[in-house]
Amino acid sequence: MKNQNESYDLVILNGRVMDPESGLDAVRNVGVAGGKISVITDQSIQGKETIDATDHVVAPGFIDLHAHGQSPFDIKTKLCDGVTAPLEIEAGAYPVDVFYNERAGKAQANYAVSIGHVWARMAALDGVDPKGLGLYTGAMNACVADGSQWHEKNTDDPKDIEKIMANIEEGLKQGAVGIGVPVGYFNKCTSAELEAVFALAKRYNSFIATHVRYMSNIQPSGIMGILEVIALSYTYDVPLLIQHIHSTSLHRTKEALALVDAAQKRGLNVLAEAYPYDFGSSVIGADYLGEGFQEAIGMDYSDILYVKTGERMTKELLAKYRKEDPGGFMLMHHMRMEDVDAAMQREDVIVGSDAMGFADVNGKALEWDDAPEKGVAHPRGAGCFAKTLRLVREKNYMPLMTAISKMTYLTASWLEDFVPAMKQLGRLKPGANADITIFNPDTVTDNAAPEAGKMALPSTGIPYVIVNGTIVVKDSEVLKVYPGQAITSAVG
Ligand SMILES: [Zn+2]
Repeated sequence: MKNQNESYDLVILNGRVMDPESGLDAVRNVGVAGGKISVITDQSIQGKETIDATDHVVAPGFIDLHAHGQSPFDIKTKLCDGVTAPLEIEAGAYPVDVFYNERAGKAQANYAVSIGHVWARMAALDGVDPKGLGLYTGAMNACVADGSQWHEKNTDDPKDIEKIMANIEEGLKQGAVGIGVPVGYFNKCTSAELEAVFALAKRYNSFIATHVRYMSNIQPSGIMGILEVIALSYTYDVPLLIQHIHSTSLHRTKEALALVDAAQKRGLNVLAEAYPYDFGSSVIGADYLGEGFQEAIGMDYSDILYVKTGERMTKELLAKYRKEDPGGFMLMHHMRMEDVDAAMQREDVIVGSDAMGFADVNGKALEWDDAPEKGVAHPRGAGCFAKTLRLVREKNYMPLMTAISKMTYLTASWLEDFVPAMKQLGRLKPGANADITIFNPDTVTDNAAPEAGKMALPSTGIPYVIVNGTIVVKDSEVLKVYPGQAITSAVG
């Protein structure tokens, strides 16, 4: 460690330093050297670069375990929202090494991916190569020609299960961060197959991140979906992350949270996640938009918007797009704010955005320097974290330190047992990664909204974001620098 007369690479002066791990909440100076935090002090320090953080909060960089969109445009938008680690853990990727290789040396933020059960299934049952991030490589539509076996086939044949498990194991060997199991999209998955996935997670000291079955208020309900994975987590002794718990539990979110409480009281390692919006987004071919969705979810055709054309669905249109473009994205109004608040305001529920990748109105991926007004997708991809901070200010949603913890330390400390690199993320202390987000608590706000031209508007009030000691957002402008590092489960 340097003494205070020495020069650091970067110093952040006079900010309100908030560290959820230690509880430190005081005006301090932060010295950064070699990509790490070197010192946090009330003494004066100097550096080659200086940021004046007067009247700003200096927080650990935000961590998002639910960032589907991974294009340079998506990551740039995430950085404006204060996120230094936008990770794709729910849907994941296959092959995992394709994902990591594509980003090496070119990433603006830290990156990681789970092995995606859904893509492992596609490769095994349809023979379609998801080429990494299957949500954006046309994999889902490519399976239609084969009858979408990944989605339509019961895995009663042990040989099918073996093939799928081999693909998942390959991903784990390549350092995947967890197994992403969005089983709510392939309900034909048998219990035997799910058991095999949990058993594999146990063998590799990994964890399961899941979008549970049955987005429904009525039987079979989202609660049953949660009970299924909690039972498997208990039986196979595997940690469990229940993602966007409110969006599958719907009107029964409080019941779902009580189940998580009960599981935790019994010593299970179960964590839940939520985002602060009462509408969701996914692919239009999703299982839960099949026959009877109105009663199950409590919404109608007109509550579903086909993103590419902006059309609201009718019976005919929904049938047409489910057939012709099952991988096309939709927005749906399917939640109540009281359920969103119940999940979001819990101290032990982490914030995860479920960010869908931004494209233009024709469905073409955006380039890094495209205007944000062109971006089409759920606004949570741009505003989730700043919105949480705005709710703290405007609605006294929760203490600011609690909100920061749910976006940083709580996430990192849950993951660190299986992903050792996470021990250096999510906190501000000497030796930790210098991933730092500096925001003005009086002005920080999301600007993205579900109207045309507003969906990808970047958050404001976050003038500086630092990744591994390098300033990436400076005076609210994203610089063309690439300090992002791979985070993997690989040990030693
Ligand atoms: Zn999901």
